Amino acid sequence: MNNPNLKQQVDSRRTFAIISHPDAGKTTITEQLLLFGGAIRQAGTVKGKKTGNFAKSDWMDIEKQRGISVTSSVMQFDFDGKRVNILDTPGHEDFSEDTYRTLMAVDSAVMVIDSAKGIEAQTKKLFQVVKRRGIPIFTFINKLDRDGREPLELLEELEELLDIESYPMNWPIGMGKGLEGLYDIYNERIEFYRPEQYEGERFVKLTDGKIAGAHPLKEKSIYEDVLGEVELVREAGDQFDLEKIGRGDQTPVFFGSALTNFGVETFLESFVDLAPKPHAHKTEEGEAVSPYEEEFSGFVFKIQANMNPNHRDRIAFVRVCSGTFERGMDVFLGRTAKKMKLSNVTQFMADARENVEEAVAGDIIGVYDTGNYQIGDTIYEGKLKVAYEELPSFTPELFMKVTAKNVMKQKSFHKGIYQLVQEGAIQLYKTYLTDEYIIGAVGQLQFEVFQYRMLNEYNAEVVMTPMGNKIARWIDPEQLDERMSSSRNILAKDRFDQPLFLFENQFAMRWFADKYPDVELKSLM
Ligand code: GDP
Repeated sequence: MNNPNLKQQVDSRRTFAIISHPDAGKTTITEQLLLFGGAIRQAGTVKGKKTGNFAKSDWMDIEKQRGISVTSSVMQFDFDGKRVNILDTPGHEDFSEDTYRTLMAVDSAVMVIDSAKGIEAQTKKLFQVVKRRGIPIFTFINKLDRDGREPLELLEELEELLDIESYPMNWPIGMGKGLEGLYDIYNERIEFYRPEQYEGERFVKLTDGKIAGAHPLKEKSIYEDVLGEVELVREAGDQFDLEKIGRGDQTPVFFGSALTNFGVETFLESFVDLAPKPHAHKTEEGEAVSPYEEEFSGFVFKIQANMNPNHRDRIAFVRVCSGTFERGMDVFLGRTAKKMKLSNVTQFMADARENVEEAVAGDIIGVYDTGNYQIGDTIYEGKLKVAYEELPSFTPELFMKVTAKNVMKQKSFHKGIYQLVQEGAIQLYKTYLTDEYIIGAVGQLQFEVFQYRMLNEYNAEVVMTPMGNKIARWIDPEQLDERMSSSRNILAKDRFDQPLFLFENQFAMRWFADKYPDVELKSLM
């Protein structure tokens, strides 16, 4: 489509995801960002209701019961002339596969860290996925209103555990009960935590790093300490380097307290300023498609069962990679070469007044799906004919044998399994010779959601027999000899009929490798 404003619109997009360990404050900060963007009017909306209709789904009872977020959603708002798209990711590590795929659809990531806990296990895992993509990572060190670790120590931990340079954009003045404010290094100013105690001013500009005049904070020794620390990191630390930030080799670090809404706005202002606009996306052939390319293209990174259990419709989340989406347009689905009309499409504009009919590269659209789309599918307009890079699959570690409890209900059983596999909710394998179903997951909870949804959405009661932890390794079909299968491994095939072994443990795998040194054992990611 010919859109004369395409470049300007694309350049205004900021599409990112927040990564963190559960309880670091992702939900709280998301909510504050939405408040600043005018997308919600009241705190408490994000966790309680999720985003509008999405909360109505019955199977999400599981989510409510456990107080975790099973699904991802998209939140959009305008701020400072930029259109911000936040892609939410499930907090629970059992759904990390979902998160990994969502991270393929963003242009940058924000890492939220609890100042008392530092880098936690899941932060580290997710960080590595982002790092591998080479996209910018911004850090928000949260909960300054509580006593936490020393800022210097936290920065050191970032560099040591994550192997990334850090640049403090601001520096806490005190913490916990003694929190006075932030020394905003980037903007050369002080931001007060309780402005009412400081002549009512929230921000005080600094000259040569000093507070001018007879400002009360000048008298405090804590301020002197902070000046010393800031000087130290300025001299000994890394220099601010936008190019390194762009490659994901340096992370700008912000301190703050999401709960008391302190430092969040400053973060958002700098973030929309520094975060990258939509980048060119790579195709399978390795070329990159410019976001300014006029013809529309995008890829499906997530499929979500729709909210109404009476209808088995789903929403395919598409990251727009080039051009302009327009309601009602015709596109091609690359995998099947089928023509599709994009008429029933959800926009994730939380502000209802702006009923956007268009989306451009960088945006996420939700395409109503009756079973045509799969995770990783590319759609494109006209002659563009691209196929975007495959989304990474992750090697599952937990396996179950599954059968239908009621043999009369085989049909709904198969339908349910195939749809949930297409959605990426679970991975499906079969025993090589006997075609028994085996499902694989990254976390136990995925099985529970699978079982629950099979029953509630497909009316298929499943019997699951745990097989426990296995190490899955793929081999070249040419090298396969069925005699390689032994009591210590299970020979299976994936849904593309590729052979793999499920090894009991490391020992069994090593034994195999020793016995068949020419056979290469491959994992997914
Ligand atoms: P998520 O699991 O990462 O989404 O974390 P939440 O946003 O749900 O926060 C987890 C808990 O930490 C909640 O009880 C929040 O109220 C609390 N919390 C979040 N941010 C802050 C903060 O800045 N200061 C304090 N004291 N608590 C916070």
